[in-house]
Amino acid sequence: MRILLTGGAGFVGSHLAERLLADGHRVICMDNLITGSIRNIAHLAAEENFEFIKHDVTKYIYVKGEIDHVLHLASPASPVDYLEHPIKTLKVGSLGTHNALGVAKEKGARFLLASTSEVYGDPLVNPQPETYWGNVNPIGPRGVYDEAKRFAEAITLAYYRAHGVDTKIVRIFNTYGERMRHHDGRVVPNFIDQAIKGEPLTVYGDGSQTRSFQYVSDLVEGMVRLMDSGVNEPVNIGNPCEMTILDFAKQIKDITGTSSEIVFEDLPVNDPKVRRPDIKKAKDLLGWEPRVGLEEGIKRTVEWVRKNPPEERAQARA
Ligand code: NAD
Ligand code: UDP
Repeated sequence: MRILLTGGAGFVGSHLAERLLADGHRVICMDNLITGSIRNIAHLAAEENFEFIKHDVTKYIYVKGEIDHVLHLASPASPVDYLEHPIKTLKVGSLGTHNALGVAKEKGARFLLASTSEVYGDPLVNPQPETYWGNVNPIGPRGVYDEAKRFAEAITLAYYRAHGVDTKIVRIFNTYGERMRHHDGRVVPNFIDQAIKGEPLTVYGDGSQTRSFQYVSDLVEGMVRLMDSGVNEPVNIGNPCEMTILDFAKQIKDITGTSSEIVFEDLPVNDPKVRRPDIKKAKDLLGWEPRVGLEEGIKRTVEWVRKNPPEERAQARA
């Protein structure tokens, strides 16, 4: 198949591109490199079935020829990134998703939206099933991301209902792994970098807020299965192994053997207090469940971070 992958030079997108190429597909990676890096896809550049187009998907998207699938991942994803780019985040979730859906409609392609557990906001239900409508502050600083993704889900379902586009929505929970950017600001790269340098691990708030971390290969498998399925309603893909951020910091200390101490810093505004995916739907409809445990996934990520000094993990533009 010929696949348009927006956000393909990002962390998740680059792993998905690798998988799609390995499965024998042709991949057109479209990215404006706002938070991604050309380094993430440099190893794919020589592949005959891989093409990179530098383009901002909030502008009209033109792709020549047939397209079978549109996988729409373009969007800043880390809280630090979307707080730095609030309007671009709103625009890529709204205008960018509209344009990507337009390509799918025009080409008769199947469409996948990379949505997020952030549509549940600061959830009052834990774990979160797909039926939960969420608890989002639309005017808080995180609202630019949460509401952009909620709009993106709404317009995706509208294209399904009104135009008959075969759409899929994956609600991705906290995912980590190789190629997360240095200074991306998310907790996994922060803690790993701090541990390796022997610097203090910065726990925000008292560390009692919870998250559930999934390794990137599990996410990619879930996305591929959803794309190949007949499922059109949103599906959570995440690892339900929930822990407090303080316990996570302790685990990073144990796994890396660092002598770093733990320090406490201010909690960001509207930081969700709990987060854990209910994955019954993914299990029942896709036969999917996570395979890589936290220790194994973190070890692989630490190994990659050690081999790639910070300048190699910084942004590189085309
Ligand atoms: P990332 O920042 O590494 O990748 C996003 C990519 O999108 C980047 O390469 C960026 O340059 C590109 N992009 C952003 N705006 C664009 C635009 N207007 N035009 C073209 N390209 C643009 O983030 P990621 O972690 O790989 O996230 C990928 C997708 O998965 C995002 O949609 C994100 O919301 C979603 N997601 C990720 C997680 C996670 O834990 N990694 C969790 C929930 C949802
Ligand atoms: N966090 C932290 N220290 C850091 C970075 C993040 O304690 O150096 C916390 C953050 O406040 C949140 C959790 O870790 O409670 C996960 O943050 P991340 O930015 O990775 O993603 P989020 O789940 O908030 O989107």
